[in-house]
Amino acid sequence: MANVAEIAEMDRKTVLHPFTYLKDYASGGIHPTIVETGKGVRIQDASGREYIDGFAGLYCVNIGYGRTEVAEAIARQAYKLAYYHSYAAHTTEALARLSDRLVRMAPGKMSKVFYGLSGSDANETQAKIVWYYNNLRGKPQKKKIIARERGYHGCSVVSGSMTGLGFYHDHMDLPVSGILRTGVPHFYRGAHPGETEEDFSARRADELEALILAEGPDTVGAFIAEPVLGTGGITPPPSGYWPKIQAVLRKYDVLLIADEVICGFGRTGAMFGSDLYGIEPDLVTIAKGLTSGYAPLSASIVSQKVFEVMEEATPRVGAFSHGYTYSGHPISAAAANAVLDIVEREDLAGQSARKGDYLLARLKAEFAQNPIVGEVRGIGMLAALEFVADRGTKASFDPGLKVGARISQAARDRGLIARAMPHGDILGFAPPLVMTEAEIDEMVGIAKAAVDSVLVDMDQQGAVAG
Ligand code: PLP
Repeated sequence: MANVAEIAEMDRKTVLHPFTYLKDYASGGIHPTIVETGKGVRIQDASGREYIDGFAGLYCVNIGYGRTEVAEAIARQAYKLAYYHSYAAHTTEALARLSDRLVRMAPGKMSKVFYGLSGSDANETQAKIVWYYNNLRGKPQKKKIIARERGYHGCSVVSGSMTGLGFYHDHMDLPVSGILRTGVPHFYRGAHPGETEEDFSARRADELEALILAEGPDTVGAFIAEPVLGTGGITPPPSGYWPKIQAVLRKYDVLLIADEVICGFGRTGAMFGSDLYGIEPDLVTIAKGLTSGYAPLSASIVSQKVFEVMEEATPRVGAFSHGYTYSGHPISAAAANAVLDIVEREDLAGQSARKGDYLLARLKAEFAQNPIVGEVRGIGMLAALEFVADRGTKASFDPGLKVGARISQAARDRGLIARAMPHGDILGFAPPLVMTEAEIDEMVGIAKAAVDSVLVDMDQQGAVAG
């Protein structure tokens, strides 16, 4: 048994943790959770405490923890060949088989797969491909990329700039130039009184068109969006949104990058979010569910339309000069093949659709009438509760009350990981797609107890409208 105090101390002194209050951690105000094992939908920490992982890590462990067939595939590849690069036409069987499969599975008319290691780097690649494509076809001005408010696309330099949440930019000199912003399609928060979902979607599409016209269509290269907005609040699009947006993009020859990092591989109840909403992307970004987190891997999938321009230009421009040491890493490719075998064999997209309906129905039954829950929403195995101080006016709580974070902590104290989304008071659920109905009941029951406990505190503080 590892010495918990020793590990914690080493960690505290040496690890620069993402998204962590640095001083609080360094001074002992925050304690590390040393995660030791995982099985199915549960993880266990070094003190033996078990948690239901209602967020599948970071929306990625879709097949659940402890799937030994993936571990064995990784081991087989590591014994055979742990590494070779994919520069200058080198490849491995695992990589070729994975790419063949992805091109066939992916939405739209796809042609080639470029590999990275994270969603952030894959979106960084997408930006470069947009710029490259428009340079090669003689449109060097057509470079700006439109992203949405509250969109999340990563936190490297360009992907972080595409992310539309201000606290990812603050003190980091982001966003860089050339990134434009358009409105978020969140009906509950954004609709005008009396507007239908279709009206609201039409207004968002009109705003997009007005932005493209104001900037000049010859200067706008691409639009990037998640089929279902994720980290910005787990918000399924209103009806009519995607057809209307795509009509505008086609009119002005603007490429569509579908960021499927969360939605891909069954999360929404279809294999890709694009399949669910009739999206025909020119570029598709995948990561997370591709390997279910068993190894790092991401990809930027390029359509025939874009690839033809890249291919044609070879005699003029030479090699495609972009790549990473670990692009197409054989161990990650082997992990992805084993994970996709499970996704297909167990019909995880179908399971996600059925269990997602059950999850949403259970959340609605428990929370639709709750005095601090303004909206219960979801699609597939993605769901969220949005907390409000006043259901009538939809007024938010004072951010200082940290309602979302307190509820998430109260859930954690009761053995459930459900994420306080970084924007607003929103509790997010994105469990492994293999979660059973009994486990969904258990998860929703704990969430209910957590919300009730915080509601009692809030009532005592007089923070809830009567
Ligand atoms: N795109 C989307 C839609 C995401 O949700 C994320 C991460 O949550 C990313 C990109 C960035 O992926 P990564 O954290 O692997 O860089």
